[in-house]
Order: sequence, then structure tokens, then C-alpha cells
Amino acid sequence: MPKRRYLIAANWKMHKTLEEARTLTREVSRGLTWGLKAEVALAPPFTALAAVAEELAGSDIRLAGQDTFWERQGAYTGAISPAMLQDVGCHYVIIGHSERRQYFGDTDQTVNRKLKAALGAGLCPICCIGESLQERQAEQTLARVGKQLEEGLADLSPLTGEQLVLAYEPVWAIGTGLTATPGQAQEVHAFIRSRLREILGAAAEDVRILYGGSVTPDNAASLLAEADLDGALVGGASLKAPSFLGIVTAAG
Ligand code: PEP
Repeated sequence: MPKRRYLIAANWKMHKTLEEARTLTREVSRGLTWGLKAEVALAPPFTALAAVAEELAGSDIRLAGQDTFWERQGAYTGAISPAMLQDVGCHYVIIGHSERRQYFGDTDQTVNRKLKAALGAGLCPICCIGESLQERQAEQTLARVGKQLEEGLADLSPLTGEQLVLAYEPVWAIGTGLTATPGQAQEVHAFIRSRLREILGAAAEDVRILYGGSVTPDNAASLLAEADLDGALVGGASLKAPSFLGIVTAAG
């Protein structure tokens, strides 16, 4: 079976003014060479989505939101709906990032509502799951990830594998400089794929499972060589074009 197409997604988090976002977008799109195997996506902060969409006009690089609310519109001060993300040109939306879970109260139940709303609006969610350091040390990694999958993906309508992306992001590896070894990552990715088979059936074979957690140009190739690693969700190293492009190049 051919390997799923890699996806390298940049999560800029709460970084970049409009001008900085435009500059970085231009640097990334000019730096991409023809014939790259990987698909590339940029997730700027909400304030820069429209500007980045303008810079990306005519390019294959895809736009992503960093979060969404589940309602379509209404009195929800500060929230952004899936329809708004669609309207500004997003193809992807990150849902359930550990920073949303830690600082903004996202739970497996709210992740589930957000996933359903995003899918309903035609967006492709990048759903983040992963264990804390304490959970890893207590050998609860697979139990934690299994529960996040079971509750986060509960009662989704039938999907094709292209409609959903998962991101395994061990919380202890995000922004810390610590990276899961390729073997540690593959063990969890294979487990995720096996649970996805039970939840989604045959579509599981086409769902891309990204790894996230201190991915750099130096460690990307060895991680991506693993059978069930289908790309990367990149935080810190996506804030500068050379390091982000180095990761895209490592994907082939
Ligand atoms: C992330 O925020 O999804 C992430 C993986 O961050 P970093 O690459 O900085 O660890």
C-alpha cells in the first residue's frame, strides 16, 4: 500500500504580527521546491488568517485555524466558528491542542463537539492527543491516548480517511526540546492506527497521523521514516522559514 502523503503543518501559536506573518508566508512559499512529496499547511493566529490567505493565493500551501468553537454564529464573545474559518480560506483546523486543553479548558467532550462542527462545515480537523510526563512515567500513555480517541471521536458520522488528521503530541515534548524517539513515537502511532480501525473501519488506513513535539530539521527524517508517522505538527521550528523548510525537505 502506498504511504499516505506527508503533511507538515506549522502551528505559529500566539506569534506574528500581520507584517511578520506575510513575510514568513512569502519566505516559506518561495523556499518550497518543485516536486516535494509533502503537503504543507500554515496555522497563523486568527488575526493573520486573511493576510496569509492573500499571500497564499494560487499556492498549494493550505491554511489552517488553530482552534474553533462549535456553534455556527451567535453571542459567543471572542469565539470563531468553523464557518468563519471556511470563509477566510482554511482547509484545516487544529482541535484539542494540549495548550487549549491546559489553558482554555478543552476536554475530550468539547473536542468532540468541535470535531463534529468542523467536519460539518467541511473543514479537515487536525485533532491533537497525547500524554503528560506523569502519565508516561506511570505507563499510562496508551490508556490516556486511547481514552482521548474514544471520547474525542465518539459518534462521528462515517468519514473517509482524507477528512481527518490526528496529531500525536506527547505533552512533555512540546516546546521543551525533548523529542520522543522514533521507536516511542511509532509505538503510539501504531496503537492510534489500531484504535482508529475499530472506530472508523477501513478509513483508518488513510488517516494521517502526525507527530508533534520539538520536531527540528535534525530529527525529522528519522521520525518520518517510521511506518505510521505521516507528517509533523511543528511549533517552535515553524516560526523561521529555514528551520520549517528544513523539516519539509526532510519529508522528501
Ligand atoms: C506544537 O505546538 O504543536 C508543537 C509541537 O510545538 P513544538 O514543535 O514547539 O514542540
